[in-house]
Amino acid sequence: MAVKNYGGEFWNERVRGLAPYTPGEQPRNRRYVKLNTNENPYPPSPLVIEAIKQAADDRLRLYPDPECWELRESIAERFGVQPEQVFAGNGSDEILAFAFGAFFSDKVLFPDVTYSFYPVYAKLWGVPFECPPLNDDFSINPDDYTRGRLHAGVVFPNPNAPTGRSMEVSTILSIAAARKDRVVIVDEAYAAFAQENLSVASYAAADANLLTVHTLSKFASLAGLRVGFAIGNESLIEGLRRMRDSFNSYTLDRLAQAGAIAVMKDRAYDEGVTRKVIDTRERVSAALSSMGFEVIPSDANFVFIRHPAQKGADFFAYLREKSILTRHFNNPPRITDFLRVSIGTDSDMDMFLEACQESR
Ligand SMILES: *Cc1c(COP(=O)(O)O)cnc(C)c1O
Repeated sequence: MAVKNYGGEFWNERVRGLAPYTPGEQPRNRRYVKLNTNENPYPPSPLVIEAIKQAADDRLRLYPDPECWELRESIAERFGVQPEQVFAGNGSDEILAFAFGAFFSDKVLFPDVTYSFYPVYAKLWGVPFECPPLNDDFSINPDDYTRGRLHAGVVFPNPNAPTGRSMEVSTILSIAAARKDRVVIVDEAYAAFAQENLSVASYAAADANLLTVHTLSKFASLAGLRVGFAIGNESLIEGLRRMRDSFNSYTLDRLAQAGAIAVMKDRAYDEGVTRKVIDTRERVSAALSSMGFEVIPSDANFVFIRHPAQKGADFFAYLREKSILTRHFNNPPRITDFLRVSIGTDSDMDMFLEACQESR
C-alpha cells in the first residue's frame, strides 16, 4: 500500500534520518496462501490459549509484573539456565533494538545477506556497521568475524535469514572467543527448526560476551502474542533492563506473560509441530530440486529458492497471481532472483508445488 507523503514538517532530524524496516505484507481483503512472513502454519498449544483465557479477568486492572519473574523462571527451567540470565521482551525485535542500543557503539558486523532489521537498528542508534559478504554458497565465512576488525560487535541469526543456512556451535563459540572485548549476539529465531541442536543459549549464560535472542513467533506459533526473550550473563541482562526501563517498563502484558509461561510448560506440543514443519521442509526441498530449482539447504521454517528460468520478481508476481504470497528482496543484487518461501501446511505446500510445476 502506498504511504501518503505528509512532508514531515514537524519531524526532527532524528525522524527524518530514519530508514524503517518494511514488514512482510499482511493482506486484508483477498485470501492468500501466506508463505511470506515465516509464521507457523499450525495453531499454538491449546494449553496456551487456555492460559490466556484464564488470565483475561479482573486482574487486567493491575499492571503486569515488569520483571516477568514467573515467565523468566519457566524459560530458565526449559533452557537449563538461571532466571537472572533471562530477559523477556515484546517480541525479539524489541530485544534486538535494546541490545543494539545497549551493547554496540564503535562498530557492528553482520553479513551482507541477513535479517534486514539489523541495519535499521544500527542507523537508529548511530552505530557504524560493516557487512562481510556471505560465501558464494550463502554460508557465513567465520574468518570474517574472527580476524581483524577488532572493537566491533557482531550479530547474526543462526540459522541465517533469509538463506536458512546454519553455523555449527563450535564455530559460533570461536567467534565469541575471538572478540572478548565486544558482544556477539546470536539471533536464534529459527534454531528450533534445525536438524541438530545448534543453540548456544546454555553457553551464553556462562560466557561474558555472548547473548542469544529467541522468539515465540516462529516455533511456538505465537507471532500475534509478541513475546521474545534473551539469554546471557547477568550483566548483559541488566543492560537490557536498563534500556527497557528507559522506554517502557511494562513491555509484556498479563495475557502475553500467561501464554508464554504455558508455552514453556508444554514443550511436547511445539516439538511435535516443529517435527511436522521440518518433514514438510525436507519434502518440499526435494521436490523443488527435482524440478530444477536451486534450493539453499535450510535449517529454518522457510526455504530460499531460485527458479530455473524466471527472474525473482516475475516468479513472485506469478505466484501472487495464483494467491500465493512469498517474500522477494530487492537487495543486495545477488539475491534478487531468489524467493524466500515459508513452510506452510502440507496442503499449502502442495498448492505451491503445483504452481511451481506449472510455471516451468
Ligand atoms: C521473525 C524474526 C525475528 C522477530 O521476531 P519477533 O519476536 O516476532 O519480533 C527476529 N529475528 C529474525 C531473524 C526473524 O526472522
